[in-house]
Amino acid sequence: CTPGGPKVREENILVTVRVRPLSPREQAVYDLIAWDCSDEHTIVSKNLNHERSTGPFTFDRVFDPSCSTQKVYVEGARDVALSAVNGINATIFAYGQTSSGKTFTMRGITENALRDIYDHIKSTPERDFVLRLSALEIYNETVVDLLNRESGPLRLLDDPEKGTIVEKLSEEAVNDCQHLRHLIGICEAQRQVGETALNDNSSRSHQIIRLSIQSSLRENSGRVKSFLASLNLVDLAGSERASQTNADGTRLKEGSHINRSLLTLTTVIRKLSGGKRNSHIPYRDSKLTRILQPSLGGNARTAIICTMSPALSHVDQSRNTLSFATSAK
Ligand code: ADP
Ligand code: MG
Repeated sequence: CTPGGPKVREENILVTVRVRPLSPREQAVYDLIAWDCSDEHTIVSKNLNHERSTGPFTFDRVFDPSCSTQKVYVEGARDVALSAVNGINATIFAYGQTSSGKTFTMRGITENALRDIYDHIKSTPERDFVLRLSALEIYNETVVDLLNRESGPLRLLDDPEKGTIVEKLSEEAVNDCQHLRHLIGICEAQRQVGETALNDNSSRSHQIIRLSIQSSLRENSGRVKSFLASLNLVDLAGSERASQTNADGTRLKEGSHINRSLLTLTTVIRKLSGGKRNSHIPYRDSKLTRILQPSLGGNARTAIICTMSPALSHVDQSRNTLSFATSAK
């Protein structure tokens, strides 16, 4: 992976693809690398086994397996993360099949974003900042508070001024970067509680870490200008749940395999990218899209990092991921 690289376009939706290295398990069974990241923007299938060729696909950035999360952050998420300190709502997603590297990537992105946000705060002494953290998990259209799991399932309410709010969701005031890391650690641990309680939880659930950033600036005139925005860091359910059909194309009978939030999110993103301003965007069809609505579309900035395995054994799922990524551009 070459350092630097051309600067990505500044658009409301930034779409990048990250290919992880072969896992030890994939290596142990001599799985093959099925994809070529031919340059920093393009990925193409190697056409092993003489199967149908796929691609080339072009994105804002393609990160090959040698790229560090730091690089993925700087080139695929940083501008979006920092827009939240300037009062613009922002969302960063990892999208991909289970085991493709979503959690690995989002942890690194979160860590980098926190550091950057605090660096920005330090270098902007003329503004006063107040940060608050909330975190939730959506499992089977049930919303749970990750800072206070005991509070049970939370309801969504429509507030005439604030839009959709999550009733009784706790919000912690953040003192400093170290405190923020500590709070995120609590959310991670809470997510693992869900993991043990519910088999296969992380492939089915969505996790949202929401940092709300408020700042005020006293102008020379004495007038106080304030900014408020949230940065949503989202680790999605496995994209294999985005399909209503089995791998062989037959329709799934069992409702539990279909993830309403993920399906609705993909529809919302497709419609937003389609640029049809007047078309109906079905935000209200799922909990995830209702919660994220103020941070998706409109002036909000979105970074979608699509993660995939390089392995031949996962080539069908990787194709689906690239097809979603293409429709999101
Ligand atoms: P997901 O959240 O999509 O199910 P994970 O993030 O848990 O996937 O990743 C699956 C495994 O692959 C983990 O053991 C993780 O540490 C490893 N992994 C993922 N991405 C990378 C990467 N870019 N470099 C090295 N290891 C990775
Ligand atoms: Mg995960």
